[in-house]
Parts: sequence; C-alpha cells; structure tokens
Amino acid sequence: MAILPILEVPDPRLKTISQPVTVFDAELKQLVEDMFETMYAAPGIGLAAIQVGVPKRVLVIDLQEPEEEDGEPVRDPRIFINPEILDPSEELASYNEGCLSVPDQFAEVERPATIHARWQDTDGGTHEEDMDGLLATCLQHEMDHLEGILFIDHLSRLKRQMVLKKLQKERKLKGVAA
Ligand SMILES: [Zn+2]
Repeated sequence: MAILPILEVPDPRLKTISQPVTVFDAELKQLVEDMFETMYAAPGIGLAAIQVGVPKRVLVIDLQEPEEEDGEPVRDPRIFINPEILDPSEELASYNEGCLSVPDQFAEVERPATIHARWQDTDGGTHEEDMDGLLATCLQHEMDHLEGILFIDHLSRLKRQMVLKKLQKERKLKGVAA
C-alpha cells in the first residue's frame, strides 16, 4: 500500500477525461487499495483516480458516518469502477462541497437529490443501487472528476475566482509559516 500525491488546482491533469477500465487485474486492485489509503490519510470521503494522476474511471468513497450522532466514524469502503448514473431526479439537493484537489475550500453545489447508479467492482461484476443523501452527492462529485470537472466549475465565474483567490492566499500564508 502507498499514499499517493494528490493533484491540486490548477494542475491541468485534473481536466483529463478518464478512460473506461477494461482489464480487471491485480494492478487495478492495487490502485484501489492505494486510493483508499490516500483518501483516509488526506482525510477525505471520496477520491477519483485522476486525482492521483491515473486517468481511469475508478472511484473510491467512504462516508465514514458514525452509527449515532457524535459517535465514532464507521468505515464503509465503496468502490465504483466505470460508474454510470441513470434516472437523476429533477429534485435538487444542495451540499456544502469540498474537494481534496481544491484544499480547504467549500461551496454550496446543487445536484439531483436521488440517482440510480450502476457500476462495476474490481472483478468486473455489475452492481446497481438507488442512492440519495450524501452518497448520491458524493458519487456525482467524484463522477465529475472522470469528465475533468471540479465542484468549483458548478459555481458562477465570480464565485469560482473568489474560491481560487482564497486558496492562493492560504497557500502563500502556509509557505510563510513553513
Ligand atoms: Zn473532488
């Protein structure tokens, strides 16, 4: 297992359109393991392969939600290879989203509240599930990465510039502190 470096804006590789997985081998399983380790270490709740520089349609998600309020986070690792969304609802849900590639920045993004998702596992088996809540939002956010889209691309130009400026400022401050 290995923690991989996470690409951050404005790295042009984040705009890559990822390619479908066609070979379900040990290398794919290794990539998924490394992505989980990288995501947990960050820490984050979702990661797309392109965020570690691999342009393949591979996502890992673990919402790590506690069983009860204020309880210990419970791990629930989910793997999505070649994911597709069917039947997105017209009803939208708004979440204050963040992204490991846009560190420490958050903004409200609206997306379909419920989706029907289809994906493959690391052995090539197909799965389908209805999703809502944070899982639906997170899967849509991660799937955007496969098309080279970041959550800030859903914001108005003005709002996006504000987020990127704030990120730049915080990076500078960190540089001074270090
Ligand atoms: Zn992201």
